[in-house]
Amino acid sequence: MPEKKMTNSPWQTALTQLDNVSKIIALPDDVHQLLRNFERILTVSVPIRMDNGSMRIFSGFRMQHNSARGPYKGGVRYHPELTLDDLKALAMEMTWKCSLVGVPFGGAKGGVICNPKALSRGELERLTRRYTYAIMPIIGIEKDIPAPDVNTNEQIMAWMMDTYSMNNGYCTPGIVTGKPVNIGGSLGRTDATGLGITFTIGNAIKRARMNFKCLKVAIQGYGNVGSTVGRLLYEMGCKIVAVSSSKGGVYNHKGLDHNVLMKYYKENGSFERFPHAAGITNESLLELPCDVLVPAALGNQITKENAGKVKAKIIIEGANGPTTPEADQVLTERKIPVIPDILANAGGVIVSYFEWVQDVQSYFWCEKEVNTKLKDLLDRSYGEVLHLSQEKRVNLRTAAMILAVKKVADAILVRGLYP
Ligand code: GLU
Repeated sequence: MPEKKMTNSPWQTALTQLDNVSKIIALPDDVHQLLRNFERILTVSVPIRMDNGSMRIFSGFRMQHNSARGPYKGGVRYHPELTLDDLKALAMEMTWKCSLVGVPFGGAKGGVICNPKALSRGELERLTRRYTYAIMPIIGIEKDIPAPDVNTNEQIMAWMMDTYSMNNGYCTPGIVTGKPVNIGGSLGRTDATGLGITFTIGNAIKRARMNFKCLKVAIQGYGNVGSTVGRLLYEMGCKIVAVSSSKGGVYNHKGLDHNVLMKYYKENGSFERFPHAAGITNESLLELPCDVLVPAALGNQITKENAGKVKAKIIIEGANGPTTPEADQVLTERKIPVIPDILANAGGVIVSYFEWVQDVQSYFWCEKEVNTKLKDLLDRSYGEVLHLSQEKRVNLRTAAMILAVKKVADAILVRGLYP
């Protein structure tokens, strides 16, 4: 698979962010080089029997960026346009995310190039099981712990856990996180990313002297993460003015009813022709008047082309990598704060860590305990990032990256170079 060479590729973005921060903190050159490289990249072929009797071979990957601070951790993504570059960027981002919020894991990401919406349930299960089997040599409770990501969910985690356990010879719940609760999942994990985003929105709007009541929010991407944010904010009295899915979205400046939206989407598979709202595209959603914009779909959405047209007062990155470095610069100049992905959406991996801890101890917590600990970690991380950004007069992403990269670099330095 060719690596994309375009300047806006997520991998280029990830490298640019690392290079910029390395300069600011005067990172030793050999540590910088280690961090620009991957510890391991595994490519696997995933042959499965299709329902019509034919065999199809899919391509799967597991990228392990860095394990200086702990076992690799990161989601598994199923997408037809997945590239090696995307996964590299996402895996590196997991290294920073875990480091920033103080979760003792390194960064990884995996995935299979496929369109899960075009597969039957049986095909999806066979694909998941064969992919899990193929990456088995490099995953493990203390090695690398996969989790859900775009187009994967707790059912897929259950199949991964079962496949690993069958091959391992005993039940091994801690091999993945984001599993169903009845097989060792954590209470609160399903909502964790969305809940974490709402905690971070709370912190950000407090600083801007706004409150939740009547806050106007636009959410790009109404999947696992976006729809949870929508539900929680709607319940808190915010106005959800716009939402979208991959096929486009809807806008109403007076606010949309989350429950009606979800019912309509379930019945129709898209928001097209949703009543009492104007049809919009995914791109135009980013330019709508609102207080808070939550890009919660895919990467590279806010670019130098549209950053000048964003009308939101605050951007909270629900997705991984939605803003390009050029767009970041424009938004910084325009004084629109961007709460970076590695902070804003870290709730998912934080509760994944809690799930792993519970699995390892076979001792499970109540949901209140999970959510309280999640809030504590996110509030503390937000405070640290804000403090550093003010002290160093840098934007929030740069501050977050400085904190994250430093901790990984320190771990590399103190461990030394093997042999
Ligand atoms: N896929 C999520 C993320 O990008 C969660 C990863 C995990 O829980 O390991 O942060």
